[in-house]
Amino acid sequence: MTQILCVNPDDLDCTVQAGVRREALNEYLRDVGLFFPIDPGANATIGGMASTRASGTNAVRYGTMRDAVLSLRVVTPDGRDIRTARRARKSAAGYDLTRLMVGSEGTLGIITEVSLRLHGIPESISSAVCSFKTLEGAVETVVQAIQLGIPLARVELLDDVQMRAVNLWSKLDYPELTTLFFEFHGSPAHVTEQVETVGELASTHGGGVFRWSNLPEERSKLWKARHEAYYAALGLRPGSVGWSTDVCVPIGRLAECIKLTKLDLATASMPATILGHVGDGNFHIIFAIDPNSSDELREVEAINHRLIERALAMDGTCTGEHGIGLGKQASLLAELGDAVDVMRTIKRAMDPQNLFNPGKIFSFEPGI
Ligand SMILES: Cc1cc2nc3c(=O)[nH]c(=O)nc-3n(C[C@H](O)[C@H](O)[C@H](O)COP(=O)(O)OP(=O)(O)OC[C@H]3O[C@@H](n4cnc5c(N)ncnc54)[C@H](O)[C@@H]3O)c2cc1C
Repeated sequence: MTQILCVNPDDLDCTVQAGVRREALNEYLRDVGLFFPIDPGANATIGGMASTRASGTNAVRYGTMRDAVLSLRVVTPDGRDIRTARRARKSAAGYDLTRLMVGSEGTLGIITEVSLRLHGIPESISSAVCSFKTLEGAVETVVQAIQLGIPLARVELLDDVQMRAVNLWSKLDYPELTTLFFEFHGSPAHVTEQVETVGELASTHGGGVFRWSNLPEERSKLWKARHEAYYAALGLRPGSVGWSTDVCVPIGRLAECIKLTKLDLATASMPATILGHVGDGNFHIIFAIDPNSSDELREVEAINHRLIERALAMDGTCTGEHGIGLGKQASLLAELGDAVDVMRTIKRAMDPQNLFNPGKIFSFEPGI
């Protein structure tokens, strides 16, 4: 199911079959001057991205799959072939089945077609990298930029350990300090204005040199460290495998959450790096673990448990991106309590035989 069914440039939308991959879609759209902004690290299918409510580095400006999906065609467990909405930008027509399906991890139906919002390729794009004396200074720069209404297209945080990993992996010489990677989109004048304002904010919060460029090859050089982060983290410990987790907190609590998490990570027996989609209050930890050690697995599970407790205590969520699947079901209960029962009621009504992805997100039987 890899057909792009239609692109409507005037309406800034398209409809694709569920198996189309995001990079293929963007290649196809380039000629009409449009792009689809949601960019999880993997070259995922649009159906999989809708099912997991995926997002990525652009979410601070363009939102997540929750915002990008206009309508779905879905085969339900009782064999109906439904369309959840038309292509209209807004609708007050009945229950919002589109939002119910987005993020349902394949438990309520099989998505066969997806209508997506698209955006014009920006006239001008600039990137910038800046390292900070303190974690708080980096996060405060982002918070103030957002409060000022600067439409940051991307803002990614890499902690000092991740920067050391990247320097070793890619033979770079960035300062091994908390670092922000920015991208700005807009008209040339608007982009210049954004770069200047954020550069000033960074310097008042202990930021070092604000290295920026609008040349495509320079921009990819600046972003190299971010793009290679995962492999660089594993490079800290040859032979290790990655074990990753993510949480998301209200942005005003982000610095505190990362700081406490770093104190916890300081006692870990394996390398662990932090990467954040910091404009959304979302951050990931990558642990480089020994694949043959059950002790290490138990250790990272315990750290993860404390991380989730910390995020929930700050009114955050146990996962901003990765979803619940099998591994975070207890955390979902801790986060939403009785609301999980309501989800179960919906699942049981729509799929009474528990045919679709049984055991995902929560148990079919209450209390198990
Ligand atoms: C290296 C890497 C980096 C990542 N980085 C990010 C990131 O930065 N941000 C982020 O949000 N996510 C990230 N992810 C997660 C990623 O978004 C999801 O893995 C991806 O969206 C799932 O799409 P897929 O095509 O791989 O689906 P699959 O892995 O095949 O499926 C995922 C789930 O969706 C269900 N599903 C798939 N297709 C359908 C369909 N048509 N109808 C109904 N259910 C379906 C499956 O049953 C399964 O439960 C990353 C993943 C990897 C591997």
